[in-house]
Amino acid sequence: MTLVVCFTDSDKVHCAADSRISSGNAPIMEMGAKIHIVPIRCTSITDGREDIFFNHTVGFAYAGSSLLASNVLAIASSLCQMICADQNRSVPSLETIAKIFTHCGSHVIKNMNFLHPKGGPHRFGGLIFGFCPIEKKPLIYQIGTIISSADTALSGAPFYDADMKRLVDKKNTITCIGSGKEEFWRRHDAREAKGKASDPFGILREVIEDEAISDVGGSILQARADKNGCVIYTTLVDGYEGRDGVYTTLLGVDITFPIDGFTFGREAVFTDLDRVFIREWLERRGRNPNWRQASEKTRNLALIETQLVVCNGRRMPMSFDRFVMIEPASPQMGVSYLTSKCATCSRAAPLIAIPLTFDMNLVRGDGGVITKCFFCGGTVLSKLVSAEPYIWNIPTY
Ligand SMILES: [Zn+2]
Repeated sequence: MTLVVCFTDSDKVHCAADSRISSGNAPIMEMGAKIHIVPIRCTSITDGREDIFFNHTVGFAYAGSSLLASNVLAIASSLCQMICADQNRSVPSLETIAKIFTHCGSHVIKNMNFLHPKGGPHRFGGLIFGFCPIEKKPLIYQIGTIISSADTALSGAPFYDADMKRLVDKKNTITCIGSGKEEFWRRHDAREAKGKASDPFGILREVIEDEAISDVGGSILQARADKNGCVIYTTLVDGYEGRDGVYTTLLGVDITFPIDGFTFGREAVFTDLDRVFIREWLERRGRNPNWRQASEKTRNLALIETQLVVCNGRRMPMSFDRFVMIEPASPQMGVSYLTSKCATCSRAAPLIAIPLTFDMNLVRGDGGVITKCFFCGGTVLSKLVSAEPYIWNIPTY
């Protein structure tokens, strides 16, 4: 099915989803546009001329049957663009938009489950998220598929229908729908138990990339809605469909190059920043920049070195909580390294290259690195906080 994660802050709603569409447990598409922008347009007739007096956009995200959800979206979204004004030129609240979707959802759900009970029940769940022009704040409404008790009693067989509810509009409350929900909360609670900051989109990415749930996968789609409307972020990705390099995508479509001179989207998210760090690190060393072909130890070394440079440059503390295996350093004259005394040969083994002006006070936490000693090949294990900075002055031929 899906994993959709949505939460509000003081003036925005943020939403993200995976892009995999499955049939049973088998993926049939990684291009599922599970997040949409819904245009809302209200018109009135002034002097025989149609006058658009309200133009706004909100977001819609779904889980469950794509056939159901995309038809509900197509119908409801058309309705939302054809709203006729009453005499007061009233503007629809987000609740009204959710009601329009629920109304359309009810028709489509009933129709499909009646005509095609085989393989059913056919269900979908949706979120309408956006800035409510009436309440003047970001809100989320959830639409679900239910068994309609009255119709069921009448027909003797289960009858399905749509219903909706308003979600708690408490700041930072995370809403999660789809088959990946349990896995999301499991990881979320594990992070919280360790005292780590809540990172809903980071967890979503982990669930997608670990392929923890067979029907959650593909790429990460991300949107936000505020008083200016709903925006889907373009995503900078490191490679796709086997292609190497950095690309700009929108809902999984490559938009790196303009179409007839037109470009799309003004805001991008970098879901693959760490990979681009690794690519640049490899490039600077004249190595194959394709991070997929680099070993785990090399990637770890590249990331730690880059993070140390970034944190040092910004005078920002870097917390390191776990031990990782890294590629052994190949030290160069005049370069500064974090070093640690080798337990086998007692020499100061170089671990990680650091800027010459590196401030050790920025390093925090109990984590560290495990690598091979440059001198004797023995295993060196060191916490980062207890490593010693040294400028390498031993010739290495
Ligand atoms: Zn040694």
